[in-house]
Order: sequence, then C-alpha cells, then structure tokens
Amino acid sequence: MGNRKPFVAANWKLHGSRSQLERFTTACLKGLSDDVETVLCPSHVHLDFASNLLAEQSLMKLGAQSVSQHKSGAYTGEVSCEMLIEAGCRYVIVGHSERRRLFGETSFIVAEKFAAVRAAGLIPILCLGESGAARQARRTFEVIAEELDIVLEKNGAMAFDNAIIAYEPIWAVGTGKCATPEQAQEVHSFIRGRLAEDTPVIGDKVRIIYGGSLTPANARDLFAQPDVDGGLIGGASLDDQAFLGIVEAAK
Ligand code: PEP
Repeated sequence: MGNRKPFVAANWKLHGSRSQLERFTTACLKGLSDDVETVLCPSHVHLDFASNLLAEQSLMKLGAQSVSQHKSGAYTGEVSCEMLIEAGCRYVIVGHSERRRLFGETSFIVAEKFAAVRAAGLIPILCLGESGAARQARRTFEVIAEELDIVLEKNGAMAFDNAIIAYEPIWAVGTGKCATPEQAQEVHSFIRGRLAEDTPVIGDKVRIIYGGSLTPANARDLFAQPDVDGGLIGGASLDDQAFLGIVEAAK
C-alpha cells in the first residue's frame, strides 16, 4: 500500500433498515480505529438517518451509491450532488457495474457523473471491471482501459488527486468468486501505471481498492498486494463483524 492510507467502504445496495443501521454503526464505531478510512453507503433514503448516527466522529464517513449527473430539473427519481451534500455525504460510488448493467449507465454517463461529483466537492469512488466473458477472451486490460480513459479524457488525471478507484470484476461481484491476489494485483498495477503515464504523482497517490466477494477470510491476502489499497464490500458489509474483520485485514 506504500504511504496510502487503507480505505474500506460498505455498499449496502438495496438492503438495510434504520434499525440495522443503528446496530451496524454502534458496533463499527466501537471496533474501528483511525488506521483505516471507512465509508458507509446506505440507500439514499437512509442517508439523513445514517448521517445523524455518524455525527461528531471521524472513524466512519458517509457515502452514496449513485447520483445524477444533473444539478436539477425534470429527472424523476434522481438525486443531485447538492442533495447528497445536504444529507451529509462525502463520497459517491460512480459507475458500479450494477448501475452500468441494469440501469443503462454508459461509460460516457459515468464520466459525466464523475465530473459532477468532483465539481460539487464530493469524492468519487469510480468502479471499473470486466465481465467474465471479457476475461476469458483476454480482454481485461482493454475493457479497464476503455472505462478509465473516458473518465480521464473528460476530467484529466489531476481529477484523481481526490478520488478512489475500485477494481470490481463483474464476475466476482456478489458471486462468491473472489479474484485471486495475483489477478487483482495485475489489474491494479495496470490502472496505476496508466494514471502514472499521464501524471506520475497521481499514479503514486491514488488509492485503488478491490471489490468482489471479499470476506474476512480472503481479504488479508488481497490487501497484502502492493497496489491493493483496501476494499469495496457488498454482501459481507451487512454483517458488522464481517465488515470489521475485513477492516482489520486492511491494517
Ligand atoms: C459490490 O457491490 O461493490 C460488491 C463488491 O459486492 P460483493 O462484496 O457482494 O461481491
């Protein structure tokens, strides 16, 4: 991880209730220390409530799972960056594979969302990842480069001065099939190298986290890789002890 502070985020997807949030944050705030930066991303509806639970401490911050690229207007069902800021958010997941696959978010829209998040002063967590078919066809680097380059072209490498990248192979998200440490490391190193080619200081500084079926049992080996700076956790983050176990592995 070099000098980069480990970063672990919980993506609760379409799960959770106020009482679950109360239990989770109480347990986490007892178990966390400031060696690892942690972020909780509950549903939009729960952000205000979670923000109150996380007030007056700095061990766990608040993030959103998605955002509109628009500031305001006739976009029924959408949520803007300003609304997220009012709700106490600091981070926003952008380009999660479920948003890309199930909700038609193209790489172009993802690049616009990344720009909107940065312009609002929020910190994007940009997800990149190849499908199982792309990996089998040995197109992993090509897909990652395409997804990254469109964001780079629109925003420039300096935009990654305050951004997180999550490598999330689609075949590993929610499947129970985690990437091997070697598979993760080679893609993380490729992403870092691509940013470094443009702006060396950014390549060195940007935190690149791994996501895809992480558990306390497999996290330590993944996090031991030199270019893996933490994790984005879906399923296992619904259980406070599992989440804390993964955070522990990131120290
Ligand atoms: C995710 O949704 O970002 C994720 C990594 O999910 P899971 O940990 O369940 O694979």
